[in-house]
Amino acid sequence: MHKRKYTKEQLEFYFKKLMDKIKKIPREEDLEKAKGYPSVQTYVDRFGSWQNAVNLFGNKKLSERRCANCGKLFVRSKKTNKFCSKKCLMLFHSKKSSKYTKAIDNKVKQILGGTCFICDFTYFLEIHCLDNKKDSNHKVLTAYNKKNLHDFILLCPNHHMMLHKKLAKLSRKENDLIWQE
Ligand SMILES: [Zn+2]
Ligand SMILES: [Zn+2]
Ligand SMILES: [Zn+2]
Repeated sequence: MHKRKYTKEQLEFYFKKLMDKIKKIPREEDLEKAKGYPSVQTYVDRFGSWQNAVNLFGNKKLSERRCANCGKLFVRSKKTNKFCSKKCLMLFHSKKSSKYTKAIDNKVKQILGGTCFICDFTYFLEIHCLDNKKDSNHKVLTAYNKKNLHDFILLCPNHHMMLHKKLAKLSRKENDLIWQE
């Protein structure tokens, strides 16, 4: 039986050709369905695994998606992944409400991670708005209904008090929040 041997360059060429054609990083199934391409096994034999070939030749930009909740670009890891974060997944499935109930309060705290942003304290948590103005349930409810809680964090009473008494400062730096005392 004649078995065709592919060079590494050829395997790269075919991988990229398929990626161009289907406009996403090919999965093993995509290659199996494609006609006139080397087999998945050829890639596995050469690179150790299909994932290794993906790591070498895959264009990460093609797996970027917009979060179905907040619209931010993120690199999805699984095909079913539609959200940039667990926060957005939970918000997306939340229902609008006209009243700030205890249930919503609990839900918001769960979405915000369930611990103090600074010290990981998990009791008596308070919701703080990063605008540093007066916190109110109404503000939280409006943001919750808009499915965007990006301007809120959880703080324990101690750290919360420090912020409002200006004993500490939280400032944004790119995507991070910096706490300074
Ligand atoms: Zn998001
Ligand atoms: Zn704390
Ligand atoms: Zn506050």
